[in-house]
Amino acid sequence: MRAAIFKGPRAVEVGERPDPVIQEPTDAVVRVVLGCVCGSDLWYYRGESPHAAGSIGHEFIGIVEQAGADVRGIHPGDLVVAPFIYSDMSCPHCLNGSTLSCVAGGGFGNGTVDGGQGEAVRVPLAGSTLVPVPGSGHPDAVLKSLLALSDVMSTGHHAAVVAGVKKGDTVAVIGDGAVGLSAVLASRRLGAERIIALSRHAERQKVAREFGATDIIEARGEEAVHAVREMTGGIGADAALECVGTAQSIATAAAVARPGSTIGIVGVPHGEVPFTEAFFRNIGWRGGPAPARIYIPELLGDVLDGTIDPGRVFDYETDLDHIADAYQAMDERRAVKSLVRIGAL
Ligand SMILES: [Zn+2]
Repeated sequence: MRAAIFKGPRAVEVGERPDPVIQEPTDAVVRVVLGCVCGSDLWYYRGESPHAAGSIGHEFIGIVEQAGADVRGIHPGDLVVAPFIYSDMSCPHCLNGSTLSCVAGGGFGNGTVDGGQGEAVRVPLAGSTLVPVPGSGHPDAVLKSLLALSDVMSTGHHAAVVAGVKKGDTVAVIGDGAVGLSAVLASRRLGAERIIALSRHAERQKVAREFGATDIIEARGEEAVHAVREMTGGIGADAALECVGTAQSIATAAAVARPGSTIGIVGVPHGEVPFTEAFFRNIGWRGGPAPARIYIPELLGDVLDGTIDPGRVFDYETDLDHIADAYQAMDERRAVKSLVRIGAL
């Protein structure tokens, strides 16, 4: 089969990988319909985080082609959403809501395991990992939104959930990338009344507004902190959602969070988290990689009935032949998030 191959920084190319086959009775083989490039793939692309040579991509939706003898609840022909990691959903960590730590789990597209940027994927623990999509004939916009549940929307949702966003809250979202925009949408969905988005890009501001942002702050750093404090009568936001992971965005989240609140942090921290400063304002930090498998079922219903359209974060499209363009567009900030059309429904 054809698949994106990570060869090193700035070298992602289409190449050949072995056709996936059932190796364990709990495996399924999924033919990929849509894949995409994650902000975290850019860390590898830019050489800022290591990645093994080989398969890449961890977000996809597709059609089940084959299911092993012990796979329950998933059948050939099903349209499925794959969370960005596979998990058994029965070990102590999965049962405690931390699927990333699953004792039997692992990630897609890590060089060895098939990736979502390829024609097909062998999915381990398929019955507990894949989420089947009810109905048929879903329009393209719905398919894109289903793909967004694989990682980006679940991650934005995670930020809002761990920060305890609830009806009537004022939320500050730091970061206007695909995760930040998803966090805006998730906050609105959870009932936030005022959503302050920090964004300096006109086209991202537009999506943020569509997703429910009530206020946009174009400034960064101290100036942004001042603006949020002013908007909240000097109190700060009920929930600050950190969706970038740089030292500056982490510091901004800490500074705009009101005393006694919890910061939802889902940007992979590439800077110091100021714990001591937050300690004296009774601020907690919660976050980490989202347990997407746990969130997908509830978000799926809202996608299918049109309540949310997280697929709006995709603003660049190409196919597998042009996978390098998909990375380049994001690297050069021409795109927020690149969609890769891989197979037919
Ligand atoms: Zn587990």
